[in-house]
Amino acid sequence: MTQIQNVTVIGAGTMGNGIAHVFAQHGHPTQLVDLNPASLEKAMATIDKNLERLVSKERLTAEQKAAALANLTTSTDLEAAVGGADLVVEAATENEALKLKIFAQMDAAAPAHAILATNTSSISITRIAAATQRPEQVIGMHFMNPVPLMKLVEVIRGYSTSDATCEAVNACSAALGKIPVEANDYPGFVANRVLLPMINEAIIALHEGVAKVDAIDNIMKLGMAHPMGPLQLADFIGLDVCLSILRVLHEGLGKDKYAPCPLLANMVAAGKLGRKSGEGFYVYTKGSKELVVSASF
Ligand code: NAD
Repeated sequence: MTQIQNVTVIGAGTMGNGIAHVFAQHGHPTQLVDLNPASLEKAMATIDKNLERLVSKERLTAEQKAAALANLTTSTDLEAAVGGADLVVEAATENEALKLKIFAQMDAAAPAHAILATNTSSISITRIAAATQRPEQVIGMHFMNPVPLMKLVEVIRGYSTSDATCEAVNACSAALGKIPVEANDYPGFVANRVLLPMINEAIIALHEGVAKVDAIDNIMKLGMAHPMGPLQLADFIGLDVCLSILRVLHEGLGKDKYAPCPLLANMVAAGKLGRKSGEGFYVYTKGSKELVVSASF
């Protein structure tokens, strides 16, 4: 079984910084790669802030924080950064053509034993693996947001992923304090195949006037013990991301029940993307949220 020591994370956005944080905190020399130097700077500042929060809560000592930061290096040169990796976790933008290109590049530059993992939410692991000469060593390693806090790693086996690759990734995830759970490579895997239809149904209920935004969210929070209502969660994920995952489910599984609600498509077309754009089902100002006061909602 591949022993995973050196890790490279591709993409320093929301997920990449969290993934690099967790590996570095658990003793892995970790290189974080992005095309954009500003993203790398922002990611390092976020990791520093999140580690400091753990120190202030006494879940980490100042020495452990310093050791985690010492494990981290950044780079804009993907090929050089994967040259010594045992495991690469790709967390670049959710775009299939981009991921196929990155996997072909990583395959050419990473050591022969290296496992190539992707954090994709919805793109086929099997198609990504086919861009490499080592499909048995390609796997989905789907971390949840925010990565330092969430326990699950959904481990997705592509058509050709070997048992040895799965075992190595399961062992490595457990050593990070996470709980790996395996799924096979079908559209949306398990997490998004179950979550997104629920979110879509909440938007359909709103669209049909069954209840208002706060009522739908409160019913699911108070009645089902969900920590966040489905509409607030959709804002948190990003309405554009929700729409694109629903389209993957609809196309890949071919059933009308996955068709995205027209209200969701309209909101995305209007630039209302949720928390990141300042408005979705709620409006967001300086870190707080308020209900959108709108006749239609
Ligand atoms: P993001 O937009 O915040 O970050 C993506 C980063 O990738 C950007 O910094 C961008 O500069 C970089 N990038 C683009 N092309 C690159 C290249 N060729 N080489 C190196 N870096 C490159 O995206 P995110 O939300 O962090 O999502 C990343 C991946 O994680 C996606 O596949 C997404 O589906 C998945 N994911 C996201 C979430 C979430 O809640 N955001 C949850 C689970 C999985």
